[in-house]
Amino acid sequence: MKPLTRRRFLAKTALGTMLGALNPVLALSSQAASSFFPASTRWHNWSGALAANPSARFSPTNDQQLADFLASAKGVLRPVGSGHSFAPLVPTDGVLVVLDQLTGLRSYDTANNTATFGAGTRLGDMGAPLANINQAMINLPDIDRQTLAGATSTATHGTGINFKCLSAYITDLRLVTPNGEVHDVNAQSAPALFDAARVGLGALGVVSQITLQNTQRYRLKQTSWVDKTENLLRDFDQQAASHRHFELFPLTHSDFSIALATDATDEPINNPPASPEEEAGFDLAMQGWMKVPPSLRRPLVNGLAEQIGFSERVDESYKILTNIRNTRFNEMEYAVPLKNGAACLQEILQTISDAAVDVVFPLEYRYVSRDDTMLSMSSGDEDHAAISIHRIASEDYRPYFNLIEPIFWKYGGRPHWGKVHSLGADQLMALYPRFDEFREIRAQLDPEGRLLNEHLRKIFGL
Ligand SMILES: Cc1cc2nc3c(=O)[nH]c(=O)nc-3n(C[C@H](O)[C@H](O)[C@H](O)COP(=O)(O)OP(=O)(O)OC[C@H]3O[C@@H](n4cnc5c(N)ncnc54)[C@H](O)[C@@H]3O)c2cc1C
Repeated sequence: MKPLTRRRFLAKTALGTMLGALNPVLALSSQAASSFFPASTRWHNWSGALAANPSARFSPTNDQQLADFLASAKGVLRPVGSGHSFAPLVPTDGVLVVLDQLTGLRSYDTANNTATFGAGTRLGDMGAPLANINQAMINLPDIDRQTLAGATSTATHGTGINFKCLSAYITDLRLVTPNGEVHDVNAQSAPALFDAARVGLGALGVVSQITLQNTQRYRLKQTSWVDKTENLLRDFDQQAASHRHFELFPLTHSDFSIALATDATDEPINNPPASPEEEAGFDLAMQGWMKVPPSLRRPLVNGLAEQIGFSERVDESYKILTNIRNTRFNEMEYAVPLKNGAACLQEILQTISDAAVDVVFPLEYRYVSRDDTMLSMSSGDEDHAAISIHRIASEDYRPYFNLIEPIFWKYGGRPHWGKVHSLGADQLMALYPRFDEFREIRAQLDPEGRLLNEHLRKIFGL
């Protein structure tokens, strides 16, 4: 069998192609013919675990139309991006506000490397127009299907000890509040509102445009290899300091992790797709592995991991930093203070092993730099390690996630706003020094609670 590559391994450990049909997921209508129309289809999130029957969908064609609508609409409104959150931030039987017509590059500043986009633009539709003006986003998350407003509203992040979540690179944003007022906000004009609205959870208003601090267009070389998890954790800080990006995908029921190091390069583009031969060989190996109970799986997974070869690829930054994840899953992610990262990860891996949790998805272990927003997971004066666990969408994630969540709490973890967690206002207040300040701003901007759903009421203790 040909050596496996990291990309094939990660795609296949998701099991989607082998376990058969996944939950059907209906996509949001992305081509609204009119700006307001009754909803005829249920809304589902990406994983299919969340659904709602919104009474209507509103899709403005310009910012003023959005403001007029918010000022006059009755009942509950929820802004929605591309539905890639696992936490029930969006579900409502009220009106979904969809910005699929407020997209694209609106303006840019060459001298300062900033660019302004309609807030409904998907991250994956930003790379090429930015490259055309010799700019690129400073960092990106694992995928690029999210909208700019949706991603920043939950403090979506990538990896890199020197890189903050995407929200922290916002220099200006336009927030349309529930009474229809349009606020152009930045750190000088309204510092507190700016700190709140960069990670606003869709609870302060609808963001219609965002200006990002970018950098000059750059190319990245990504290298991946496999090693013992204990070795990789021992050297993690050193690797994180010496590479632009560094992360791990620790394998469950295994002593190994896949390491990914990514650095700027001038080398020519070399990013070939996986070959069909490699794909077929891997399917066979995985099918054998899956028949073995978790408690007996370690030698097999270790053997498979040791076959994963060293691999390299070079491409434009936005093509290297993001991936395509076709297999649907649910995810829980917490950020723990950096000093607790390795211990927390090791305890999670040990618990999965001790409890013989039948999970094949690797974990994900990343570093995120501190920032000055009110509610990002890494806000404040400490850098954080972000640790994710996943479960395929066709299986009940609750027993696994319920088992692991207290470990995150033990290490001082803060939940990713867009991912599964069970925390309410009391716990969140203890985790975020500026939580009450955010709640006050929310109450001022939305005194009638028109932007609240059940999940947000729980989060804010209302
Ligand atoms: C396969 C996959 C991979 C992922 N990888 C990562 C990763 O690497 N790193 C990471 O941090 N996260 C990751 N996520 C999580 C994801 O980035 C977040 O959940 C993100 O918020 C989803 O963006 P969205 O456009 O789908 O927004 P939605 O999920 O639709 O909405 C998210 C929030 O944004 C609000 N919102 C949307 N649009 C607006 C607007 N115009 N104005 C105000 N509020 C708005 C919504 O009300 C809601 O509160 C991943 C998710 C998936 C499914």
